[in-house]
Amino acid sequence: MSRRLEDLSGPEVGERITDSSIIVLPIGAVEQHGPHLPLAVDHVIAHEAAAALVAEYGDAHDLWLLPTLSISKSNEHAWSPGTLWLSATTMLSVLDDIARSIATTAARRLVFLNGHGGNSALLNVACREIRLDHGLKTFLVHPFVPADHGGESPEAELGMGIHGGHQETSVFLHLRPDLVHLEKADRAVPAALADNAHVKFGGLTSFGWLSDDFFPEGHIGDPTTANAAEGKELFETAVRLLGEQMAEIATFDFGR
Ligand SMILES: [Zn+2]
Repeated sequence: MSRRLEDLSGPEVGERITDSSIIVLPIGAVEQHGPHLPLAVDHVIAHEAAAALVAEYGDAHDLWLLPTLSISKSNEHAWSPGTLWLSATTMLSVLDDIARSIATTAARRLVFLNGHGGNSALLNVACREIRLDHGLKTFLVHPFVPADHGGESPEAELGMGIHGGHQETSVFLHLRPDLVHLEKADRAVPAALADNAHVKFGGLTSFGWLSDDFFPEGHIGDPTTANAAEGKELFETAVRLLGEQMAEIATFDFGR
């Protein structure tokens, strides 16, 4: 049985979608990821993680998959031709419109499953705006929490494998090995940042950045050590953790 919302007929939505349903919107990006990866990385990862999540945990938690929002807020890569991006205001409007549409169903829980770190701050804003404007319970989850938002990155990358680095490249080697060109990969870690006490990724002081502020290649991390076996493990762990999060989201009620 399909758990893609778009596979239902109009009348079936009224029967199958209830106030216990959780609507999952995968959000990716089409943006440069350095010379070794295609533009598609983030939306492929978001889509595959969401599809695996719904396949494994959909019946347990009444999950319903929306089509992946493949173009999002990628303006840190605007310098790179081929990157497709929405402005912050456009993206907020798109999310608000999708949420308004979901609010016409019986579902009351909307989950953003985000594969692109550049969206995270805006998606937190959207969660609150949609909560206020449409009354939905809103949640933001990541297959991989970005290192500049508290996520982990290998020590070898000095905690800065945030874009096209070891982990993301490993996961993509697992999902789409035909699209990875490791022979073109090089290490691009802005090592001097690690000497700062506060102004660094994940530090007390955050800072505005564009992906070509660091190196002209546009990735940030060290993909040269990437491997598919580790990518498989990372991906499967991510899906399991997403499943655990859905179990809590399913009953979440503000501690009342
Ligand atoms: Zn990415």
